[in-house]
Parts: sequence; C-alpha cells; structure tokens
Amino acid sequence: MKAIVLEQVDGKTLAHVQQTDLPAAAPGEVRVDIDWSSLNYKDALAITGKGKIIRNFPMVPGIDFAGRVNRSDDPRFSAGQEVVLTGWGVGENHWGGLAEQAQVKGDWLVPLPAGLTARQAMIVGTAGLTAMLCVLALEEAGVVPASGEVVVTGASGGVGSTAVALLSALGYQVAAVTGRESTHDYLRKLGASRIVPRGEFADTRPLEKQIWAGAVDTVGGTVLAKLLAQTNYSGCVAACGLAGGFDLPTTVMPFILRNVRLQGVDSVSAPLALRTQAWERLANALPDSFYESAATEITLEEAPEVAEAFLNNAVQGRTLVKIR
Ligand code: NDP
Repeated sequence: MKAIVLEQVDGKTLAHVQQTDLPAAAPGEVRVDIDWSSLNYKDALAITGKGKIIRNFPMVPGIDFAGRVNRSDDPRFSAGQEVVLTGWGVGENHWGGLAEQAQVKGDWLVPLPAGLTARQAMIVGTAGLTAMLCVLALEEAGVVPASGEVVVTGASGGVGSTAVALLSALGYQVAAVTGRESTHDYLRKLGASRIVPRGEFADTRPLEKQIWAGAVDTVGGTVLAKLLAQTNYSGCVAACGLAGGFDLPTTVMPFILRNVRLQGVDSVSAPLALRTQAWERLANALPDSFYESAATEITLEEAPEVAEAFLNNAVQGRTLVKIR
C-alpha cells in the first residue's frame, strides 16, 4: 500500500510517501481500505517531529480515517461496510490513516453515521468530533442558547471552525477569538456574530467583567485563564486544546466565587456511546454550507508540507486528505 512513513534519522523525523506492507494482523482486527483521512494539529506535530507524539518508528501517521472494510476478523463488521475511526492512539502508536489501508481493532471503529458521506465524516474528523464533545459538555453543564453569548478560541482552526458552525447552527450567539484578520469573513460565514482579536487575551486578572455563558477553548495558556475570569456565574468552559500552550496561569477565584465549571474534553479515549451520540448530533446539526466552506482538499503527497503550515498558523478550517 501507499502510505506516509515516518522515520527517525539523527534525532530528526523524516516523512516520505512510499510503498509499504501493513504489519501482520492480530486476532479480532479489521482491515480497512481508506478513502479519506484528514490533518489534525496532532498529525502536524507527529509529521514534523515538533511534538513528541511518536515513540516507535517507522510509523504511519494519521489519527483519523474513513473507508470500507476490506476483511474482518471481528463479527460486528463485514466486507464493504463503511466505517470511521478517530483516536485510540492510531497514528501515534498504531499505524494510522495517512495510508491506503489500516488494520485496527473492531472496538475502535464506528459505522459511518447515517446522513454523512465518508468525505463529510473526514471534513468533520477528530477536530469536529472534539468540537461536538465540547458542545455536549456545555449542554451537560446547563449552557443553552438562552443562557447568553458563548465564545470559541482558536476559531479559524479545525476544532474552532467546527465549534463556531455547530454552536451557531444550534441557535447560540457565538463570538470567535482569532489571531488572524484574514479569517474574519470566513468566521462570519460559519455563523460567528462577533469577532474578538486574540490580542485582547494577552493578559488577565483573577476576575473580570462577566461576558460568556460558555466557552470552547482550543488554545490553553493565558487565553484559557482569561476565559475563566470572564465566564458568567455558573457558566462552563470546555477545554480541549493547547495550541497556545499547556500552562494555565489562573486562580481559584472563578471557581469559588462564580461557581464556574472547567470541563476537560478528550476525544482519543471517549467511550463508544458518547462517540455515537456525538456523530449523530454532528450529522444532524452541521449545515451543508459548513462542508462547502470549511475544508481544503489535499493529496497524501502534499500532507508533509501542509503539516509545516499547520504549526505556522497558516491553515484555515479543516484539511481533508484524499487517499483514493
Ligand atoms: P488548528 O491548528 O487547526 O487550530 C488551532 C488554532 O489555534 C489556530 O487556527 C489558531 O486560530 C489558534 N492558534 C494557533 N497558534 C496559537 C497561539 N500561539 N496562541 C493562540 N492561539 C493560537 O488545530 P486543531 O483545531 O486541529 O486543534 C486545536 C487544538 O485542539 C490543538 O491543541 C489540538 O491538539 C487540540 N485537540 C484536542 C483534542 C482532544 O481530544 N482533546 C482533539 C483534537 C484537537 P486563530 O488563527 O483563529 O487564532
């Protein structure tokens, strides 16, 4: 099969598109012919070697894919069935989706959600699933459209774009925090009613004027600390990312004086029932306009170069990789 293969030479990660063979199948595994994959922030870290994502080389990256079952040693799946995979360490410590085929545990696969094509499922991908998990976290904390304005940080990125589109489609008033002026029109088209420049999040105090009923944060660091300080009494911040850093320079004040909830969100090991619910909600909520405007399609050969651009904050929305 054709795949991106990552190797480590003199401490540097090298990425090449080449022919290779899948490792021998383990009992219960399912072989999938991949039609679509996508690039996520973690893929960019893995492919460029700028994050310690991969420990064992050679490795095929790609933390998500959509395709058709080629053959299955798991009775729940049959040849030809359309499936989606996100997370579970695939593309990190198990050969991943930036390849023509993958071989994975049946437990890791989700049947292609009704109402979505495989291409649409990968426009959503890990980033979009994570955005939906954040929205579910806000709902669980009682944040509804009538609660007030919600805010999304890293808004022009994959998770951020999908969160803006989803929240807007669900009836929320959405503010988008971005560091890029060039993406303002795009964010408005996705449904943002207000754009807040990232520069306004450069510093914070323990408590600030209450603005947000809820927040989806993909950035971390001072941005997350400021969101907490600006969140309304009993509001919720769903934190899923670290695009701006993994520190959190906050105080206990928002929690003990304003009853604010900080909810962590992980998509990699999210249980099957939650994934299934999230995919169903995504399939029903996202408008067609999202699929038309939020994705750039690239080839496997282009992925290493685009991975570099990702980490230079030069990629907008979702990056879809056409495998076949
Ligand atoms: P993208 O690169 O597509 O988006 C990240 C966005 O963050 C950028 O578009 C930019 O938005 C903003 N940003 C970039 N650099 C900085 C910076 N230095 N300071 C502040 N903001 C910055 O990545 P994804 O959307 O794929 O992922 C976003 C984050 O979510 C990543 O940290 C990723 O690891 C995490 N993630 C977590 C998951 C989980 O399961 N918890 C799953 C998927 C992703 P703008 O230009 O609009 O300011």
